[in-house]
Amino acid sequence: MEGACEENNASGALAERKRIIKENQGESAMKVLVVNCGSSSLKYQIIDSDTEKVEAKGLCERIGIDGRLTYQPTGGEKEVTEAPMPTHNEAISLVLEALVNPKTGVLKSLDEVEAIGHRVLHGGTKLTESRIVDDEVIAAIEEACDLGPLHNPANLMGIRACMQLMPGKPNVVVFDTSFGMTLPAYAYRYAIPTRFYDKYKVRRYGFHGTSHSFVSKETIKYLGLDKDNSKVIVCHLGNGASISAVQNGKCVDTSMGLTPLEGLIMGTRSGDVDPSILQYLCNHEGIDINQMLSILNHDSGVMALSNNLSSDFRDLEEAMNAGNEAAGLAIDAFAYRVAKYVGAYTAAMNGVDAIAFTGGIGENAGLVRKKVLERLGYLGISMDEEQNKKRGERFILSTKDSKVTVCVLPTNEELAICRETVALVQ
Ligand code: ADP
Repeated sequence: MEGACEENNASGALAERKRIIKENQGESAMKVLVVNCGSSSLKYQIIDSDTEKVEAKGLCERIGIDGRLTYQPTGGEKEVTEAPMPTHNEAISLVLEALVNPKTGVLKSLDEVEAIGHRVLHGGTKLTESRIVDDEVIAAIEEACDLGPLHNPANLMGIRACMQLMPGKPNVVVFDTSFGMTLPAYAYRYAIPTRFYDKYKVRRYGFHGTSHSFVSKETIKYLGLDKDNSKVIVCHLGNGASISAVQNGKCVDTSMGLTPLEGLIMGTRSGDVDPSILQYLCNHEGIDINQMLSILNHDSGVMALSNNLSSDFRDLEEAMNAGNEAAGLAIDAFAYRVAKYVGAYTAAMNGVDAIAFTGGIGENAGLVRKKVLERLGYLGISMDEEQNKKRGERFILSTKDSKVTVCVLPTNEELAICRETVALVQ
């Protein structure tokens, strides 16, 4: 109840602030600051919530080491400033200074910031949807640090810094895991003893949820599908890669698991492997489980299959064309795994209306899209070769007579966070 009361107070204060700003400026000028914190970095954008245009964006790097701020107003010059950032507080402070800088800032005052939207990796089982930050939410994010040890503590640092530096402004948290929380138990449970689920909540959570949610919603709009009668598969193929089955707007299966290691082959992550490999290699190589997990996260994937040539598909394609067989194998294995998951998720939904490609590879790598779709002829899919030359934009990739519509739809996680934030604070 206390939380609800605080939320009401926060939205009441917000409405009052909006009214004052509108009166002063004679127009709606509400902005959302979107923040995505890593342990030593912080990405940010200021988005106008009415036009959904990015007004400025940038990055703080080397937080806790020395500190570098990049700031770029839309249409303006990129500025890079070296400045000490012992903690996330100094980093956010410098971002706010840049945003209201009289010469290059995009805000007249911080009052224009309507709310702050934070990307948070793991919500655990308690935080199943986006929330306005209060003590209960902070405690639940802390509790989920165990499940997201690299990201959740950093996300919390960003939230606390914003609360301190912009007191009274509502902070909203958007979780990478939320979208996967609608999976049915038969999809999220691992077939291991129940006590591990009861005690430790070991289950499939799924990640990239903000992207899967955004792209599936946009695909439904773009293709004019009836949301309540739709079956969409989203292939988020970037350095980290995952795939989701979205039925009637709800995620019913997704390829990442307890952690982002499961599922597709990725840049440097193995994706699915036989768990016995871990014991076998630990015994033979004399390494411990932590070293083994580090290998599966950082030294595997297409990087490993290409004999450490690269994790970047631009390099792999160039090498393959020059006759490098390992690079060709890496691309084939990657595409094969994606196609296998599309088959599995078509079965999970007993059909599929649309497939969307997104992420750096999905949006740009025509070769990968072609190799995936070549394996899906049995679904009646046919690809338009001309369309497949396009990249980095929204377009339909399948031919008119294809039984399933395939599209490319660039993801926009920051806009998704902005929309969630606005929906909660208004
Ligand atoms: P992250 O998971 O880091 O957010 P991205 O979604 O930004 O990753 O994807 C980055 C990857 O996209 C690169 O490593 C590269 O493999 C791929 N990529 C980017 N541009 C191209 C391109 N023009 N052609 C082929 N692959 C590309």
